[in-house]
Amino acid sequence: MKALVIEDTATSQAVICHLLERLGIQPIQARDGLTGIVSFEKEQPDLILLDIILPGIDGFEVARRIRAMEKPGEWTPIIFLTALTKDEDLERGIEAGGDDYLLKPVSEVVLGAKVRAMQRIIQMRHSLLVLTRKLDSANRELTRLSAVDGLTGIANRRQFDEALLREWRRCLREREPLSLLMVDVDYFKQYNDGYGHQAGDECLKVVAGTLRSKLRRPADIVARYGGEEFAAVLPDTASEGAILVAEAMNSAILQLGIPHEGSAFGTLTVSVGVATLVPAQVEGLPRLLSAADWALYEAKREGRNCVRVADPTLVTD
Ligand code: GH3
Ligand code: MG
Ligand code: MG
Ligand code: MG
Repeated sequence: MKALVIEDTATSQAVICHLLERLGIQPIQARDGLTGIVSFEKEQPDLILLDIILPGIDGFEVARRIRAMEKPGEWTPIIFLTALTKDEDLERGIEAGGDDYLLKPVSEVVLGAKVRAMQRIIQMRHSLLVLTRKLDSANRELTRLSAVDGLTGIANRRQFDEALLREWRRCLREREPLSLLMVDVDYFKQYNDGYGHQAGDECLKVVAGTLRSKLRRPADIVARYGGEEFAAVLPDTASEGAILVAEAMNSAILQLGIPHEGSAFGTLTVSVGVATLVPAQVEGLPRLLSAADWALYEAKREGRNCVRVADPTLVTD
């Protein structure tokens, strides 16, 4: 531990430094305020003992400047050394950023007690900082978890709903089209029945990762919409672009070649419904959702493993 002693009186300086050494603390000496401030910056002491009456700037001003130099979260205890005992001097000292005061001549017992008290406060502050950091990272982790689907690691329904509404509003303001893809695994009940629920889970993870790999822009988002159904939001994307992404997703899943005896195709496939809208009003969002749903239903009805697009004449906001 290092203590900076800013004191102009040689005898007093010597006594205090001697006492500090006996307490196992390394003293750093400064004989005036400006030298003290330079030493504070250079040595980064754990404690400052600060005389009030000094040549040049006084102790109050030194305390103020040191406090102004500290970064947020930093704090070095300042104990004023004073022969002054008036209450208003004490008040000024605390206002200037001091934490405590010691009457001169300094007693070894009192100095020792104050140093120990300050050490305890430093310790407590440190524990608090560590705790705060842990809480911060726990909070970040909670925020992340509340947005992510536990099984597949992609966005969950909640994050999807938020993103969809946000992008809907943005596209409304910017008069840009917004596309929505609904992706549903074909014959998935049979997959579970044939290969077991656990294999079904593994399959959903692979499907999620594959769908995500087909997104093209940073603002695109794919989420687990529920069960074996996924949904993607593609902002600023017109119908042609959305169809390309949907086709890419459909063929990427087919190319995985995951065996599926219970399917008409022999391998795992998905059906995709696509809908695109240029938003005209905030309330129009459910239309986009039901249009994409309808297109997905069409894809199922027409045999599955395909992409169907909602008729634009039916999708007007
Ligand atoms: P379709 O081709 O018409 O989409 O038929 P499908 O069998 O895929 O659809 P259905 O809605 O009849 O069944 C969906 C199945 O998905 C039933 C359910 O057990 C399964 N499923 C939903 N969520 C999960 C999950 O998290 N893990 C597993 N393993 N299966 C799930
Ligand atoms: Mg003095
Ligand atoms: Mg299905
Ligand atoms: Mg389904």
